[in-house]
Amino acid sequence: MDLPVYFDNHATTRCDPRVLDAMWPWFAERYGNAASRTHSFGHVANAAVEAARGQVAALIGASPKEIVWTSGATESDNLAVLGAARARRARGRHVITATTEHKAVLDPCARLESEGFAVTRLAVRPDGRVLADDVAAALRPDTVLVTLMMGNNEIGAVHPIAEIGALCKARGVLFHTDAAQAAGKLPIDVAALGVDLLSLSAHKMYGPKGIGALYVRRGRPKVDVEPILFGGGHERGLRSGTLAVPLIVGFGVAADLCAKDLADGSVERLRGLRDKLWTDLRARVDDVVLNGGWEHRLPNNLNVSFRGVEAEALMMAMRDVACSSGSACTSATLEPSHVLRALGIDPEVAHGSVRFGLGRFTTEDEVVHLVTRLAVEVPRLRDMNPMLEVSWPSR
Ligand SMILES: *Cc1c(COP(=O)(O)O)cnc(C)c1O
Repeated sequence: MDLPVYFDNHATTRCDPRVLDAMWPWFAERYGNAASRTHSFGHVANAAVEAARGQVAALIGASPKEIVWTSGATESDNLAVLGAARARRARGRHVITATTEHKAVLDPCARLESEGFAVTRLAVRPDGRVLADDVAAALRPDTVLVTLMMGNNEIGAVHPIAEIGALCKARGVLFHTDAAQAAGKLPIDVAALGVDLLSLSAHKMYGPKGIGALYVRRGRPKVDVEPILFGGGHERGLRSGTLAVPLIVGFGVAADLCAKDLADGSVERLRGLRDKLWTDLRARVDDVVLNGGWEHRLPNNLNVSFRGVEAEALMMAMRDVACSSGSACTSATLEPSHVLRALGIDPEVAHGSVRFGLGRFTTEDEVVHLVTRLAVEVPRLRDMNPMLEVSWPSR
């Protein structure tokens, strides 16, 4: 077992060696621009890009023509939220999202407010979810877009996307979902889910950093999206810029491998390891609480708090474990994240929040190592905490 052990797969994943192998030639001898139509370098690159488009489309049940390459889920979210809302400006100026969305969705929504849109940010239930009824109650005659993520990057909460998709379809409202965390972990069929726009990021699914995709549904009623980048008119005018051929080829292979994971039981193995982590943790460490619900949760996510232990202190003590805390990830202050605050949990509990993200390369030995280390460090830090008895809310 290599140290430190990696339990931060929601932040990014290791690029699969098979993905790396597939990318090499496209950095080296096959360096053509996929938009060059006058020689074989371009033709070969273009063929590789189109093959990858098919692979990514297949993972989500889409047609290749519905895939737009971007630089990652941040750009996909921006293009979906800004592009779809602006294109519908004449029809209405109301957008619905939730307080627990990724900043790549929340910040474009705030941008829309400055352009005259109204934004409803739905509160989440104690398990971190928004239900279709919550969305229905917020819909207005002028609502043009609903954007709700498929799997949350901090607490793993999975919204009932198919129900919300059916509701939006019935009301003639566009529906975007950020599936950066869900792709490869949950089966995705865009038609069955009723989504019009869906964001993906390769580096969250064992592909390279710097490449993503936006699914834009084709057919009636039409999904109009205004571009946010202007230039060479690539990707049917929706996203100008020379295509990153090596990264796209890698993303395609990564999508293929994720489809295999879903089909061959690898995702269930991941769920089994995550469940073992939670079971063993409760057996060996006192006063540990789960943040978010259990049932509707990504199979690779565990987010917990330890009574009387600051997450930052715990991570400093465990240099041999790479994980993430629920505070400070976006700011210099040790404020609990907006997601934990949205759950309404006590700030003391939020300060103790630690996120474990398992992945394809996580082994059972690593889970055992993690639990063993926590069983040592949590009691040790509690012994050092003079405020222990007052630092946990009465339950
Ligand atoms: C990582 C992530 C993003 C941002 O993706 P990038 O490809 O890094 O830009 C957006 N949304 C969610 C839910 C994520 O987990």
